[in-house]
Amino acid sequence: MNRREFLETVVAAVPALGWQGTPANEWGSTVFDLHFHLRQQPAANLAHLDGAGVTKANLLTRAAALEQIKALQSAAPGRFTWFGSYDVSRPDAEQMLTQAAKDGAQGFGEMKFHVAADGPEFRRLYALAADLRVPILIHFQEVDHFPNEGTWATGYAKTFESILKAYPKTTFIGHADAFWANVSADYHNEAAYPSGPIKRGGVTDKLLGDYPNLFGDLAANSGNNAMSRDAEFTADFLKRHQNKLFFGSDCSCSDGRGGGTSQSNNPAASRMTGKCVARETLTVLKRSTSAEVFQKLVWGNIHKLLKIPA
Ligand SMILES: [Zn+2]
Ligand SMILES: [Zn+2]
Repeated sequence: MNRREFLETVVAAVPALGWQGTPANEWGSTVFDLHFHLRQQPAANLAHLDGAGVTKANLLTRAAALEQIKALQSAAPGRFTWFGSYDVSRPDAEQMLTQAAKDGAQGFGEMKFHVAADGPEFRRLYALAADLRVPILIHFQEVDHFPNEGTWATGYAKTFESILKAYPKTTFIGHADAFWANVSADYHNEAAYPSGPIKRGGVTDKLLGDYPNLFGDLAANSGNNAMSRDAEFTADFLKRHQNKLFFGSDCSCSDGRGGGTSQSNNPAASRMTGKCVARETLTVLKRSTSAEVFQKLVWGNIHKLLKIPA
């Protein structure tokens, strides 16, 4: 059998292989989900990754979940990294997060707490993240999704630039409603997820351009919504910040195909009902960028940031 005959036999036997010999991937690139909340059952984590066509994910966990993380990492070697989170207002937050980093956490997050983004609770953790050389992923939200929810890491649009200046050695990853609504210059906390064309010159666009220590997490309805409002803006935004953005899902659907509930407990995100946020966002990114930029957003950038082999 010559080489050509051999290849034809292989391709006939395994249609998914194709001529390159690489496994076909529906997204045209391997995919890393930066924003994936750890699920109780190991199989439930893998069901979402496999269903959505995702290769690896970063588990966002409470620092106390170490046993579960280790079990999942050994069940699926090479597929999971993790970030640890801990209540910023507790006196032992620095101690607990330092221990998480020692245990293998490669970042702090998701940090979602009812305190000001420039308050003392967060400031000590910004300093710690710089000392330990790990990124900190923050949920910024100023508008309730349901009555009395309260706000999270408040003051983003007004005060966060001062934080970026004060902590140049800290790597910040912005996420959630206020971070993404502020891509538009006309936003003033009217809605959790504003719609319509984007007014150029928004706070987030400006900060991503001006501060090398700020990155953006495209996860959740917030990221998807921002990238779905204005196709021309999105194409330009992704191109300009192609080295500073990461794909993430924050999806809670059961199967990576929209089964179950995709944006749990959030009536404001009903546009994602019956959909998988991972799939929806990968689709938007793919149609809005070149293959090269898409690959950076969904794979290359996060490997570089976490200094892990791609
Ligand atoms: Zn969040
Ligand atoms: Zn999903």
